Amino acid sequence: HCDENSNLIGSSLKIPTIKFTKLFINGEFVDSISGKTFDTFDPRTGEVIAKVSLGDAEDVNLAVKAARDAFDHGPWPRMSGSVIDIATASRTLRYYAGAADKIHGTLLKLSKGLQGYTLKEPIGVVGSIIPWNFPTAMFFMKTAPALAAGCTIILKPAEQTPLSALYYAHLAKLAGVPDGVLNVVNGYGCTTGAAITSHMDIDKVTFTGSTEVGRKIMMAAAASNLKPVSLELGGKSPLLIFDDADVDQAADIAFRGMFFNKGEICVASSRVFVQEGIYEKLEKKLVERAKATVVGDPFDPKVHQGPQTDKKQFEKILSYIEKGKTEGATLLVGSNRVGQKGYYIEPTIFADVKDGMTIAKEEIFGPVMCLMKFKTMEEGIKRANSTTYGLAAGIITKNLNVANTVLRSIRAGVIWINCYTVFDMDCPYGGYKMSGFGRDFGLEALDQYLQIKSVVTPVLNSPW
Ligand code: NAD
Repeated sequence: HCDENSNLIGSSLKIPTIKFTKLFINGEFVDSISGKTFDTFDPRTGEVIAKVSLGDAEDVNLAVKAARDAFDHGPWPRMSGSVIDIATASRTLRYYAGAADKIHGTLLKLSKGLQGYTLKEPIGVVGSIIPWNFPTAMFFMKTAPALAAGCTIILKPAEQTPLSALYYAHLAKLAGVPDGVLNVVNGYGCTTGAAITSHMDIDKVTFTGSTEVGRKIMMAAAASNLKPVSLELGGKSPLLIFDDADVDQAADIAFRGMFFNKGEICVASSRVFVQEGIYEKLEKKLVERAKATVVGDPFDPKVHQGPQTDKKQFEKILSYIEKGKTEGATLLVGSNRVGQKGYYIEPTIFADVKDGMTIAKEEIFGPVMCLMKFKTMEEGIKRANSTTYGLAAGIITKNLNVANTVLRSIRAGVIWINCYTVFDMDCPYGGYKMSGFGRDFGLEALDQYLQIKSVVTPVLNSPW
């Protein structure tokens, strides 16, 4: 969201100007009731870039009232599904805008004398809680299918990244989304987030974030009005590279799979299992790639890897790196802070990582790769599955039988073969095991936001 007033740092870096810092409720930007604000920080420098209105339970109540009115009395859930032409539509918006007029039930084949069909109806007022690692993608991933289904929304962005959601709320208003249909309430998880999950008048919660918080969300939903929840949670995703792989291609896939978005991505290929015949060559290539990575200001086009999102995350990653060293993994490259300010960390690769080590078990959510060697396909499958998570997995091989066997054996919601971190609107995405349940993207995402109503009636004059 750049505009002509953008500041210039140095001679060439264009930094966006911040326009919206309040809450967005019932079609208006408003201060929080308490008048309180919280700081949002620039991870390049650690300095404050904006003060944002801090929402609380009372602000959530106002947003729910607006969304409830817009759902119960407004035109949104009853519109035809083919009305909105959003000028700024991203691919996600276009995909779900295209689906909005194709939501329908099925004809039922009932017993003699009866006829029936199902209706798919919007679930109602949706509470959406998102993390900070992809504030834009998450915003549209959650709002587009919910809006297409006819729901109204209260969205809480992560406290680290409140600004972009406010800007998109502004665009939604310009595009003609009626007041109250889309509301943004900023604030912290334990207050604003908890007010959403325990609210008696919110009909559904969709959440993306950590497994730890996902558990709290389910408990709050159960303890309040039993609202259904969808959870997209953490991961510790395996990538299996077999001996027949092309070394350059495999190194490229593995490197990008792990270090894309500085490792702050839930599907990161953080456990790379390499078959022994190709291991030495691959290790060498990965280290070369890490050493060639330029870490620095993300507004500079020459930079490959920017800062971690905040101080807490930065410190957590460095403490995992220390654990890797003390638990006996071999540090191949990286591990240090880059520069004296901001939250920059070198791409880090550990070898000789054992399955039981902390860095192999826990989600680090930073630029830290665990390299492991395996002998047979069976061993690779077993070790890939030895995790409580089940979000994604990758396989690199030219052997179709190996790929087919492995993809069916791994318990994860997405399997990438000879590629990694590839997303498509039409590809449903979500976890197995403690990576959550429910699916974002694809037509399946609409199911999160729909109820099924069955209608049964006798055929004219038939006995039933
Ligand atoms: P987080 O779980 O700490 O926070 C996510 C959101 O939940 C934030 O908006 C936060 O304010 C809110 N929250 C925190 N406590 C809450 C509570 N008690 N009640 C209600 N809301 C609460 O996660 P994070 O640190 O922002 O993001 C990183 C995590 O997100 C990682 O574990 C990552 O794997 C996961 N993630 C998963 C996916 C996926 O699609 N599966 C995608 C991106 C990130």
